[in-house]
Amino acid sequence: MEENEGILINCPACNGIKTAHSRIKTEKIPYFGEVMEASIVCDVCGYKHSDVMALDQKDPVRYEIKISKDKLSNRVVRSQSATVSIPELGIKVEPGPKSQGYISNIEGVLNRFQNGVKQALTLFPENEAQKNAKIILEKLDKLLNGELKADLIIEDPLGQSNVVGLEVKKRSLSKEELDNLKNNFTIIDSTDQ
Ligand SMILES: [Zn+2]
Repeated sequence: MEENEGILINCPACNGIKTAHSRIKTEKIPYFGEVMEASIVCDVCGYKHSDVMALDQKDPVRYEIKISKDKLSNRVVRSQSATVSIPELGIKVEPGPKSQGYISNIEGVLNRFQNGVKQALTLFPENEAQKNAKIILEKLDKLLNGELKADLIIEDPLGQSNVVGLEVKKRSLSKEELDNLKNNFTIIDSTDQ
């Protein structure tokens, strides 16, 4: 993927005149198709936003993969509309106004969870919250070094996300699952990536 300066636009956050770089790049993901990644970064206030879109029309979809060390480099496309969860760890990122779409891999998804939990550690000083967050961080470490296995689930009502790999279980979302996704609220989402 090549980086470029993009075009300069007015910043949607600080209203700076042509202070924000707007970049668009496309990437071909095997077995999925062409994905467009769009980002805005403001030089003045630091505002950042990114999202990914599949260029073909897609259907509601659910991906499930058992995380293990040999799958850390499996490609993951997470669009803004997707819910990402690891039920065994009780963690979930849901779509919200601050959600970022990204193209990464399973290791990158785990790193984003680590950052989200670390952010939560600074926001919630209560003992119970701190204890839970530290347990989750330990389990994320174990997933990263192969001592633990757990399922990663990505549910996307717009079908814009993808997990690549032979062992990935892919199916469409039921109507009930779709309704549940729509009624949820953001629990953890990391804003600064
Ligand atoms: Zn700005």
